[in-house]
Amino acid sequence: MRLSRAFLPTLKETPAEAQIVSHRLMLRAGLVRQTSAGIYAWLPMGLRALQKVGQIVREEQDRAGAQEILMPTIQSAELWRQSGRYDAYGPEMLRLKDRHERDMLFGPTNEEMVTDIFRSYAKSYRDLPRNLYHIQWKFRDEVRPRFGVMRGREFLMKDAYSFDLTKEGAEHSYRQMFLAYLRTFARMGLKAIPMRADTGPIGGNLSHEFIILAETGESQVFVSRTLLDMDPLAEAPDYDGDLKPLVEAWTSHYAATDEMHEPLAWEKLPEAERVSARGIEVGHIFYFGTKYSAPMGLSVQGADGQAVVPEMGSYGIGVSRLVGAIIEANHDEAGIRWPDAVAPFRAAVLNLKPGDGACDALCDKIYAALGADAVYDDRADRAGVKFADADLMGHPWQVIVGPRGAAANKVELKRRQTGERHEVSPEDALGKIRG
Ligand code: ATP
Ligand code: MG
Repeated sequence: MRLSRAFLPTLKETPAEAQIVSHRLMLRAGLVRQTSAGIYAWLPMGLRALQKVGQIVREEQDRAGAQEILMPTIQSAELWRQSGRYDAYGPEMLRLKDRHERDMLFGPTNEEMVTDIFRSYAKSYRDLPRNLYHIQWKFRDEVRPRFGVMRGREFLMKDAYSFDLTKEGAEHSYRQMFLAYLRTFARMGLKAIPMRADTGPIGGNLSHEFIILAETGESQVFVSRTLLDMDPLAEAPDYDGDLKPLVEAWTSHYAATDEMHEPLAWEKLPEAERVSARGIEVGHIFYFGTKYSAPMGLSVQGADGQAVVPEMGSYGIGVSRLVGAIIEANHDEAGIRWPDAVAPFRAAVLNLKPGDGACDALCDKIYAALGADAVYDDRADRAGVKFADADLMGHPWQVIVGPRGAAANKVELKRRQTGERHEVSPEDALGKIRG
């Protein structure tokens, strides 16, 4: 994308309303634009990051055996009356009426809807287990929307729902998601720690929140240091195999959110092992048994002919929150430092002297070779503006082309993450960028 023609606006001033660094940088680098309190338009740069995050989530869900669907944002209140949650949910739910005065709502979550869909088709034990997910906008009328996309009112979530015949089966589905989450966040360059969590309004008996440590996090968390040094599985596990030992390697160490914290157990840990910190919740998984299937009348015929009420779980990831969380974990004074896997653009080509024949020719060549994953700063601005914008936008690689280098067929290659710069041939630069 040529910057001279692109819609990639940046701001020089720091917007006053932004309290945390990721929010400031998202506004300054032109990722999002607030349209109402807690509601954001995603501009080209932000949308690309959102899509990359979403794609990693999708790949790991698919790998773990979940299947993607897409449910609507607008739901009928009728389904929520069946589960008993319509009245229970409170003012966070945005309630609407259609022209026939029917009660509708903008979905804050989808347990009811997916249970309704599944009960229409699942008839026998052969139809289970299944796990269905979608990546869809949610609306929750948060009391205090803040920190930009981290706590929005409209936000993008991946939510998966598992259906099993037995409690053991449901625990296996839970473990599949547990491990898929570890891999998902690790691929984005984040260290997310699973912590025992309260089951809250979704209810149920088993729950973990996946939390990354950050000073600006909204949750107080208590973590055993061992967990901070553990590596999530580099290789995908055999999701059909016995996952219990893999999960227990994580759950056997102390890690809890404020609500679940047990000071007595905590104080028994060696001092050096205790880390209490702030954290950002990026994912949350629940096993809740028949909380929705029973009242909503989901039942299938078991192998012995008896009716079975499926055991369910639900599994959320804050896709739009993750974009903020990734920036919170990857930035410096100059701007964003995107991890390769989620960078909106892999590289920027900086032409320091547009109009200079050698510079233009070399930039055109490099830009053509890099293709759609690159931006080309061909604007007539000063070099300083280009450096500042490239650092702010945070592309992992910068290819800097000036007249002296171009004459000698050399470019400067800068790695944003480390700040390292090297003079190299254009071919070597391309090789490095392509990895
Ligand atoms: P929180 O405790 O942060 O309010 P929650 O427990 O209500 O979140 P869940 O119902 O578990 O959220 O939703 C799944 C995921 O969706 C969360 O782990 C989080 O990453 C994301 N999420 C929840 N609320 C918001 C929000 N208001 N803005 C952006 N992302 C959100
Ligand atoms: Mg939660």
